[in-house]
Amino acid sequence: MLTQSERDSLLDTLSENQKEFIVHFMKRGKRTQFSNLIAKWKAESKSEEGTEDTASNWELIDYIDAGPDWSAAGLQCECGRKLRRQYIVSNKITGVTHKFGRDHFQDHTNISPELAKSIIKGFDKIDFEMDEILIKILDGWSLENEWLPSIPDNMVFPKDIAEHLENDIPLLERQVNRLRDEIRKHLKEREDNEQAKRFREQKRLKAIKRVPIENILSEVTQENPYEHSEKGQAEQPIPNRNMKSVDFNKMRLSLPKEHQDAVRNIINKWPSNDISTLAICWELINNYGANSEMYATNKKPKIYMDVQLMMNRLVEEGVLQLTSKSLDNCLYSILSAVKSVEDQQLNLF
Ligand SMILES: [Zn+2]
Repeated sequence: MLTQSERDSLLDTLSENQKEFIVHFMKRGKRTQFSNLIAKWKAESKSEEGTEDTASNWELIDYIDAGPDWSAAGLQCECGRKLRRQYIVSNKITGVTHKFGRDHFQDHTNISPELAKSIIKGFDKIDFEMDEILIKILDGWSLENEWLPSIPDNMVFPKDIAEHLENDIPLLERQVNRLRDEIRKHLKEREDNEQAKRFREQKRLKAIKRVPIENILSEVTQENPYEHSEKGQAEQPIPNRNMKSVDFNKMRLSLPKEHQDAVRNIINKWPSNDISTLAICWELINNYGANSEMYATNKKPKIYMDVQLMMNRLVEEGVLQLTSKSLDNCLYSILSAVKSVEDQQLNLF
């Protein structure tokens, strides 16, 4: 806590705007403390009504600090003592007004000693806060040095905090803590919103990816392709196809073994005879854990070329027949189901 002369010399360095803010800050702070403490006391001592009733209706209407030249200002307590700082209270019921110093509260009103004590403590708290502000001004306080998370552009500051900043007044520790919480809350909300958005987008993309490319092309206007595709696939039985044995080891494919097996599985269970390279890519990505990275340039999955190579081999083996070829995709008819020679050998043993 500062001494009175330290306080005065610091106050002296402030701009008019800052001085005015401090005066207002003190009046408001003390008034709020006073009415809160009276209200609290009123609530706690509700049982003993009657005589104390007027005591609970005091209101602090002003707080005056006459400054360093106070002896000339002529402020006085009820008892005649000269004052630098004068509190003026008024009774809402009787209309009586009293003017006195901090320590004569109880002497000149009918409030209880306990209440008087807590009111004095409340006033001191506001004095401490003014000191905190003055010391921070002396230290060249800035918001940047509070190590706050970066403040979102669209965040609205709490009113009291905005008032401090607008008037070039440092924030109190309690305000900094509140601001930190507010920013965190704001960032968390934003993160949650973005996550929800990402999740919706993923779900949407997944829904699209689940549909073979041919369906997308023919059903662009479909509102919910996911539902359609699910239903469509569930209703359609797998066509009865001959099984062809293929030696995949000889093919020297770039696709990993597990995904080669997966492609066979996809083709064998495909509900229609038309299939495409892209459709297989998305099946691999969605259901077999294949890499979902995309080429930014042509919006194709990075696994596309590896899958395409296997499709070419399957055409050579007579499993598939190429029906349409473009830069974006290749479409095939499924001529037969396919199994690996390895599987056949395993079955033999
Ligand atoms: Zn007095």
